[in-house]
Amino acid sequence: MSATHPTILVVNAGSSSVKVSVYAVPEAAHANADINPVLSAHGQIEGIGVSPRLSASMADGRIVADERFPVAQVADHDAAFRLIRLVLSIGLRDAPPVAIGHRVVHGGADFSAAVKIDDDVITKLEALIPLAPLHQPHNLTAIRAVRAAVPALLQVACFDTAFHAGHDPLAQLLALPYEYFERGIRRYGFHGLSYEYIARRLQQIAPDLAQGRVIVAHLGNGASLCAMRDGRSVESTMGLTALDGLPMGTRCGAIDAGAILWLSQQGMSTKDIETMLYQESGLKGLSGVSSDMRALLASDAPRARLAIDFYAYRAAQEIGKLAATLGGLDALVFTAGIGANSPPVREKICARLADLFGISLDAGANNENRQRISRDNSRVPVLVLPTDEEGMIALNTARIMMEHHARA
Ligand code: ADP
Repeated sequence: MSATHPTILVVNAGSSSVKVSVYAVPEAAHANADINPVLSAHGQIEGIGVSPRLSASMADGRIVADERFPVAQVADHDAAFRLIRLVLSIGLRDAPPVAIGHRVVHGGADFSAAVKIDDDVITKLEALIPLAPLHQPHNLTAIRAVRAAVPALLQVACFDTAFHAGHDPLAQLLALPYEYFERGIRRYGFHGLSYEYIARRLQQIAPDLAQGRVIVAHLGNGASLCAMRDGRSVESTMGLTALDGLPMGTRCGAIDAGAILWLSQQGMSTKDIETMLYQESGLKGLSGVSSDMRALLASDAPRARLAIDFYAYRAAQEIGKLAATLGGLDALVFTAGIGANSPPVREKICARLADLFGISLDAGANNENRQRISRDNSRVPVLVLPTDEEGMIALNTARIMMEHHARA
């Protein structure tokens, strides 16, 4: 990290973790639209309120901190955030941040691009909490913590929904009475920062494919698919909330709305239903073993196998659905924790797509997580591209920072 380079912090506050990355924005970028923020350090606290563990390292791999804390000391996100700032401040002494970019899961109908945060923005984001109960409150806690500590610092919200903002109205509709659509009850789509990064990456490594009909499978703890045409999102499996679409680590994915009515009729409260659908379902609920794909792959339990098979079944089914939206398929891209690292899961999904798309995987390339994992004669090429949501937030934040400085 150089003292001459402006520094940006990227904050990704999840349900039980806060991750902070430090980026330097090279000077040359000021005169040039092609900004290229460079990662210089990363810190995170996992297990907030359960078994807090702080780790921080420089981009060259040097470990700055690795420590467990008593629960009482890191009981909530506020405390976690203060602790990370303290550790990173050692590395930031020569280059205090000029802006902070936050991952914000839901931008609703109001935000179709990253935005400078002010009181009005915070009020609008607070109203969206019920639509993203697992993430939005923590995103806002981080924003408020910074505002309280350094009120003048530029803060930028980068939304998981923004990349999908151009969807055709047909892709946004829920077949409820139309007045609800006008009130913002519509299908938005999420994981947009990841998809925006993959769209850019694909443009760099395979511009011919990037211009075509591409389905990207973001398979992490959360999971969704994005259908892209010419690098732009046209459809996603997630909708009004990040609960829709594929089954996930602990989330149910798409289910019959009648099942929710039934749960309610059985006397379950809305809060209990929410907890079950967001935190007790998906791989965890089906397997009874774990929400973690690595643990399921290592398990002999029959229901662990069932959960993995269902996961692949649903992913393949939804890929077929999105291909119908695109009118065909020119490339399939896997990304995120499972997508980028799990050969058996990719293999199971692609095996189900062999007849429909003529997909044929190269077993060796798949086992090594190579960039291209399909054989040369595969009708649809299959790629593995690690995602970089933090890098995308840094880029969006740097752009707004420069606009802000140009105006000042
Ligand atoms: P998040 O959505 O929280 O960012 P990640 O993208 O890190 O999550 O994905 C976490 C998932 O990736 C977990 O289910 C984990 O088991 C899985 N994963 C990570 N590495 C591997 C691997 N080598 N093989 C199988 N699954 C993996």
